[in-house]
Amino acid sequence: MSSSNDHLPPAEGLSDVVARMEKARAAAIEPAPFTTLVAVTKTHGEDRIRPVLDVGHRVFGENRVQEAKEKWPALKRDYPYIALHLIGPLQTNKIRDAVSLFDTIQTLDRPKLARALQAERARCEKFPALFIQVNTGEEPQKAGVLPSDAPQFIAFCRDEMMLPVQGLMCIPPLGEPAAPHFALLRKIARNHDLPYLSMGMSGDFETAIKFGATHVRVGTAIFGERQT
Ligand SMILES: *Cc1c(COP(=O)(O)O)cnc(C)c1O
Repeated sequence: MSSSNDHLPPAEGLSDVVARMEKARAAAIEPAPFTTLVAVTKTHGEDRIRPVLDVGHRVFGENRVQEAKEKWPALKRDYPYIALHLIGPLQTNKIRDAVSLFDTIQTLDRPKLARALQAERARCEKFPALFIQVNTGEEPQKAGVLPSDAPQFIAFCRDEMMLPVQGLMCIPPLGEPAAPHFALLRKIARNHDLPYLSMGMSGDFETAIKFGATHVRVGTAIFGERQT
């Protein structure tokens, strides 16, 4: 089994991924106007994150509010202009922390959460951008709204809750070709004039770019395997 220690140093992993992204964008027929690399730092400590900050990367993803709260306030003090994305499920009792820490929440997926975010927004000066998570594979254990419920949920969040919904996010089922899921997510986004598409991880970010990803979420290809 590989460990993070036999992987490239994180800064080299980062430049490797950036080069692969540029190549994929150059080859894509219809790439998005830009593709932002969200470097996923879950489970990794400061020793691995700082080298990537030192070479100028500023966009990061974490999947747990608590873990992000322990790691990122100190890093934000040391490095200006960090943009932090929440890419894991959000419990309503963590909303206050999430709203103050994150610049984008990619996992809006249910009316109860939309209502709680709306209530929180009324008391905040700064409020994150929101992406709606779509369960494109209709997997029972996975978060996200079903594709068939997406139109209604998007309308509810935007028009009734007046939330700043800017895009969609998906995590395709493991062991299935990702392309049809990326195509479906793009179709839903276009139908609703949502400009941002967060899709693609270490194993499939080049495919996601081909389908118009504006955000790819890449952990392992930058930082190596996560220790569990
Ligand atoms: C962990 C995680 C990623 C990154 O996965 P890698 O395969 O390590 O690149 C992307 N998106 C989400 C939602 C994740 O939880």
